Amino acid sequence: LVSRDLHPEPSRIRIRDIVVGGDRLVVIAGPCSVENRERTLEIARIVKQHGATLFRGGAFKPRTSPYSFQGLGEEGLKILAEVREETGLGIVTEITSPAQADLMMKYVDVVQVGARNMQNFELLRCVGRMGKPVLLKRGLAATIEEWLMAAEYILSEGNEQVILCERGIRTFETYTRNTLDLTAVPVVKKLTHLPVIVDPSHATGIRDKVIPMARAAVAAGADGIMVEVHTEPDKALSDGPQSLYPEQFESLMRDLHVIAPVV
Ligand code: PEP
Ligand code: MN
Repeated sequence: LVSRDLHPEPSRIRIRDIVVGGDRLVVIAGPCSVENRERTLEIARIVKQHGATLFRGGAFKPRTSPYSFQGLGEEGLKILAEVREETGLGIVTEITSPAQADLMMKYVDVVQVGARNMQNFELLRCVGRMGKPVLLKRGLAATIEEWLMAAEYILSEGNEQVILCERGIRTFETYTRNTLDLTAVPVVKKLTHLPVIVDPSHATGIRDKVIPMARAAVAAGADGIMVEVHTEPDKALSDGPQSLYPEQFESLMRDLHVIAPVV
């Protein structure tokens, strides 16, 4: 079902009034985690002002350590719903368990399946049955074939609204958090009709590397990007070192407009 052979036309995915996979770029921006109401609304107003198309923020966080901040749960989803109400931005947030499906149906526009859950087949079937747009991240050590098969799980449940997201893979290189596999963009676009975006924040883990890799992703043909933005990255509860300052996000948006039209 994901193959371009049977479905040669690129798929367009509608999220409120925007289209992913059309002729305009989609920019998903926001903090790694929803930390509290004030901070989240502050960041949302800024990214909206600079032209972001969708807002991101995690309420259920898949953290490496069980002692790290785990997210605000439903309270975080309510804050995200308030962001949507105030800014009109559609909401993208991660689902980490099928038990969260009802809450996600109520509060968000796009459910994200994170890299660590890319082969959680029960979760894939669950988001397939939910029928909401899904952002499917590439697993930390997943081949493109495995990633597309994960997407196939979702489509096989009747949900064709899948956006693929390249977010870097594990290699022997340690300078960056992961290694951004930009080749995946043209490869995937040839194999499938599904739109593909790039997350240079998790791919590099380093703020200063995010802007050049975002530009490169768009130049390589990505349908959009997802970036982490924070007003005080030093105080962020997760992923501060890779979060852009508002001024950097503004400058990135100016660059992107030169490369391709943004929604
Ligand atoms: C995220 O986008 O918040 C996230 C946890 O990303 P990934 O699953 O790619 O690590
Ligand atoms: Mn993050």
